[in-house]
Amino acid sequence: MWHRTTALCNAESAHYGPAMESNVDYVMGERVPEPATPIEIAPGILWIRLPMPIALDHINLYLLDDGDAWVLIDTGLGDPVSIGTWETLLETKLQGRPIRRIIGTHFHPDHVGLAGWLQNKTGAELWMTQLEWLSARQAYLDVEDASSAQMQRFYHRAGLNETELRAYREMGNDYRSMVTPIPAVYKRVTEATVFEIGGRKWEPIFGSGHSPDHISLYCAEDRVLLGGDMLLPRITPIIAVWWQEPEGDPLAGYLDFLGTLGHIAEDVLVLPAHNRPYRELRTRVKDLADHHVERLDITLDTCAAPATGRDVMKALFTRELDAFQTRFAIGETVAHINNLLHKGALTRDLDEEGRHRYHRV
Ligand SMILES: [Zn+2]
Repeated sequence: MWHRTTALCNAESAHYGPAMESNVDYVMGERVPEPATPIEIAPGILWIRLPMPIALDHINLYLLDDGDAWVLIDTGLGDPVSIGTWETLLETKLQGRPIRRIIGTHFHPDHVGLAGWLQNKTGAELWMTQLEWLSARQAYLDVEDASSAQMQRFYHRAGLNETELRAYREMGNDYRSMVTPIPAVYKRVTEATVFEIGGRKWEPIFGSGHSPDHISLYCAEDRVLLGGDMLLPRITPIIAVWWQEPEGDPLAGYLDFLGTLGHIAEDVLVLPAHNRPYRELRTRVKDLADHHVERLDITLDTCAAPATGRDVMKALFTRELDAFQTRFAIGETVAHINNLLHKGALTRDLDEEGRHRYHRV
């Protein structure tokens, strides 16, 4: 049941929290491609921007020139508008060359929602990490009932009220509604994988926190980084605990990932899955890490007196949240709480109503 909680991961913080934009250098300024008209953002790399019918209103895909074929990075949502745009792209923009490989950075529906549809159309292979492929298949095929007792218990313990819980119960498998069938056959990206595409070598950089085993792809020779959702310039990728793994510490995974990027060239061109291509990765990485440290501090301050997850959420997210935004906000809040629990900086009790109360040590 990842779908109910993770499906629109990329509503991202911009829509329930601070936009958190860094002072980075957008290489194309304000310019963005029209949906069916890719821009060549670097030699042999086409930037496609597909609109999305959700708060985060677009996703960036990249087509890599592989000589007599293309390699596609991510696919877009499995919705009619994206399918219509892809039909135009396939007919008119690919110079008669096939898409031979699709590389999915992670399982979220805006990234692999059309992998099945495109595979049917083109015969392309789908490449993903095993955990991401399994997560996609699991979310697509999941039959867990919306009123799952464990899910209700997680959000009740986090302090959500009955109205907020009801909103969860009423959501169906929204992952399934946003993807075409996830391919049953794939090729696994491992630590040993190096993609050779059009004479360039791309090395995967693995990271968790936003999803279980996300890959970014780095071409050291030409200093280009396909960042997926991990290194967005204007919004922070959601780092959340979901009810299936209530004691998880995804923030530790994400902060670890940010610490693994020291080998990336300082002037690297970052091609993110949302917002616009940029340079100044170091600045962005520092700002992303600082953002979470700041929010850990707010969490600790709020727990000076015993507080519920919902109390901390109200301190972290000061704007009004609808039911949809609340599920991301509470997940992100619990991620910060769990990180502090794991470090021993917070303790936790259950109150008489069965809610967790967190207290600063
Ligand atoms: Zn995502």
